[in-house]
Amino acid sequence: MTGITTEVVIVGGGPAGLTAAIALATAGVETVLVAKPPTPDYRTTALLASTVTALDTLGVWGRCRQYAAPLRVIRIVDDTARLLRAPEVCFVASEIGLDAFGHNVENRFLLAALQARGCELSALSMIEDEAEVLEIEDEGISVRCKRGAAVSARLAIAADGRQSRCRAAAGIDTVGRGYPQTALTCNLRHARPHHDTSTEFHAEAGPFTLVPLPAQCSSLVFVVDPTEAPRLAALPDPDIAAEIERRSHSVLGKIEVTPGRGIFPLTVATATRFAARRVALVGEAAHVIPPIGAQGLNLGLRDAATIGELVVAGHREGRDVGDTELTDRYDIMRRADVTSRTLAVDLLNRSLLSDFLPLQGARGLGLFLMERIGPLRRAAMREGVMPFASQPRLMRGEAL
Ligand SMILES: Cc1cc2nc3c(=O)[nH]c(=O)nc-3n(C[C@H](O)[C@H](O)[C@H](O)COP(=O)(O)OP(=O)(O)OC[C@H]3O[C@@H](n4cnc5c(N)ncnc54)[C@H](O)[C@@H]3O)c2cc1C
Repeated sequence: MTGITTEVVIVGGGPAGLTAAIALATAGVETVLVAKPPTPDYRTTALLASTVTALDTLGVWGRCRQYAAPLRVIRIVDDTARLLRAPEVCFVASEIGLDAFGHNVENRFLLAALQARGCELSALSMIEDEAEVLEIEDEGISVRCKRGAAVSARLAIAADGRQSRCRAAAGIDTVGRGYPQTALTCNLRHARPHHDTSTEFHAEAGPFTLVPLPAQCSSLVFVVDPTEAPRLAALPDPDIAAEIERRSHSVLGKIEVTPGRGIFPLTVATATRFAARRVALVGEAAHVIPPIGAQGLNLGLRDAATIGELVVAGHREGRDVGDTELTDRYDIMRRADVTSRTLAVDLLNRSLLSDFLPLQGARGLGLFLMERIGPLRRAAMREGVMPFASQPRLMRGEAL
């Protein structure tokens, strides 16, 4: 068995794990990333402006910027046939002095950019394997991989997704539930320009969201009832294109679907702690939320930036970076941000699904006030782009 000793071991090579690895290694913290080979992911991610700033600071953004489209306007349309319908609301980035709220990029280009940047860093070693066993002791932690490698470290960062094995090994539970919703995803070419506008149609089964990609292309997240998903997913390209054009009220004209559809059952789950026993959770190992308002990975990258900041500071002070003081601090620092976003997204989603009139009324009133009251709308936009509860240094453009 090959034995490696390092300061931090990260399990999981998705965007959250890779970002944490780059944040640490850029600041000279010896890090080993254990990652299973990537599986094809045709989804896109809307990265908010503060996330783009962090990726730029880490030397990643320049490698995927050319594949990303700016989001300058976000339009929310109530497409329900209900008694209480909300007015249409447009959020315009220039209203809060921004060129764009963020950028939308295909996950495969983001991952390739992260991997390429990671390969440049001498403090980062990558092992392409599956972490099978995590052993936690008083003085450190060790990870044993399927093909025999063993890594000992002070701290393990669990970035191994929603079924996190590391989270289970640390004895951390999650609370949450599934929704009666499934997201179908695909990318589209269309006849009309999107004008850098993301349009979110709120229907009874959930949102139908078109997000700009470069040129006359967009990505689609189409939330439907789980009983409808298999039928839609099995439709031939021209038929699903026609269905998408119908549901989008032809705002983008004639639609052509490009290869690579995905199906994702929607769930919400939050870890009861974000760190314990030398294990810190980042990304979907810590929290899963439905794809509404582009929050999931943006939260995950704030996790990565926060643990990076704490570990780099601890490393420079010569401390044990897996000690309880540091992991407790991380848990506290992530709590408000994750809880507030999860509650907001969950409430918005349930108000769409619910037949309870007062809840529909509250959603309509919220959007009505947002449409009418400029300062409220601007405060909501600022909070969306740069959350008050969490502003890690990387998100402010400061290197660690
Ligand atoms: C339809 C949809 C649309 C979305 N759109 C957006 C959006 O616009 N904006 C946004 O911010 N978020 C969005 N999200 C959320 C976003 O996709 C997730 O937050 C993000 O993918 C989670 O990244 P991660 O790195 O935490 O986990 P993952 O991407 O799941 O990565 C985990 C990695 O760990 C690896 N792994 C697991 N176990 C092991 C092991 N034992 N050993 C080694 N490796 C292991 C896996 O192979 C995987 O590569 C969306 C989600 C969905 C479903």
